[in-house]
Amino acid sequence: MSLAANLADLAPHAEVRVFEPKTEEERDCHWSFWGSGRHVEALKPACKGTWKRWQLIDHEKKVVHESVAQNYITLSASDYLKLCKANLSPTIQLVRNAVKKIDYKNNVAFLSAGDITYTAAHVFDSRPPEKKSGGMMQHFLGREIRTKEPITESDTVTLMDFRVDQSRGLHFIYVLPFSDTHLLIESTMISQSKEPQQWYLETIDNWLNERGISVESDIGYESGVIPMDNCQPQDSRTSAIGAASGTIRQSSGYSFNYIQQQTKQLAGRISRGCYEVPTPISAKLVFMDRLFNRVLIKHPELSVKLFMQMAGALNGEQFARFMTGTASFSEWGRVILSMPKTPFLRHMWSV
Ligand SMILES: Cc1cc2nc3c(=O)[nH]c(=O)nc-3n(C[C@H](O)[C@H](O)[C@H](O)COP(=O)(O)OP(=O)(O)OC[C@H]3O[C@@H](n4cnc5c(N)ncnc54)[C@H](O)[C@@H]3O)c2cc1C
Repeated sequence: MSLAANLADLAPHAEVRVFEPKTEEERDCHWSFWGSGRHVEALKPACKGTWKRWQLIDHEKKVVHESVAQNYITLSASDYLKLCKANLSPTIQLVRNAVKKIDYKNNVAFLSAGDITYTAAHVFDSRPPEKKSGGMMQHFLGREIRTKEPITESDTVTLMDFRVDQSRGLHFIYVLPFSDTHLLIESTMISQSKEPQQWYLETIDNWLNERGISVESDIGYESGVIPMDNCQPQDSRTSAIGAASGTIRQSSGYSFNYIQQQTKQLAGRISRGCYEVPTPISAKLVFMDRLFNRVLIKHPELSVKLFMQMAGALNGEQFARFMTGTASFSEWGRVILSMPKTPFLRHMWSV
């Protein structure tokens, strides 16, 4: 949908069909990312929250970042998809069907969806990537609640609170305070195997109890598994975009910014007659993220420290740039200097 919305802006007369079997409501969840005031303005109808402060906490310290230029923005996925849909042009249409099969003959693609076979000169495929067993992943369950009493620090997002059970892998609580009585709390793991649903729920309950936060009512639940490894597209003959093309940062699981950049660039290219999909994340960044994950797998005892030191080495603006892949050479230098050298040097050759 992001590509279609960008095409509607940059190539509004292109003949495009977007195949999506799920409704916006069926796809609803929270998508967060760092963005400027311009992003907040452009995405206002889909914004559920924006913050200028975020924090990471472990048993020893709290790293709090504040930013003037950057916002941590949370969108309702459903409202974002509706915004994209409203932007489509008469020749760029949504088809509410799954693609069952794609065949190629003489460089023309034949897509079967519903009872119709569509022909296309170019296919961009954002079906979710193949799942790789044993790969690193971020898996989580979130609970959206109303609280009985107002909470404190409702102007601050908690990106990672590590003061939870670390015995099964890197584990943290993520909190989005939409107001002082409206929260999304997620129990998130970065590891190679999922946990039973009850385990995440109990973690959230304990976290709330320890802080004396009583639940007035439940608003909803969401869960997800985000691959943090190399992604393989479902069909190697099509041009993969989105997660299947590697838009997910392997060290953090964030992909929204990268999908926006990729689809905007691609729409620009298509308007000029070029159909090559832009590489979403530079090879250097992919290498650094893979090295980071390698150290996490081989040295789980260092995991919390790695995130805390990385965040502690940067201020708010720098951290936001780091998370969105736009950090400068010197900001990278700060992060590298803050890391323990021996494990990174030892695993550099096996990435
Ligand atoms: C609960 C949850 C919370 C998340 N939070 C964040 C976040 O805060 N920040 C962030 O950056 N990322 C977040 N993510 C990850 C983010 O959603 C994904 O990285 C991103 O959606 C990938 O985009 P995509 O377009 O590549 O694929 P998807 O968004 O997965 O879209 C793939 C689409 O393909 C459709 N499809 C499947 N099969 C077919 C078929 N045969 N024919 C036609 N269509 C098909 C599916 O219905 C789906 O709509 C979250 C994920 C989840 C599940």
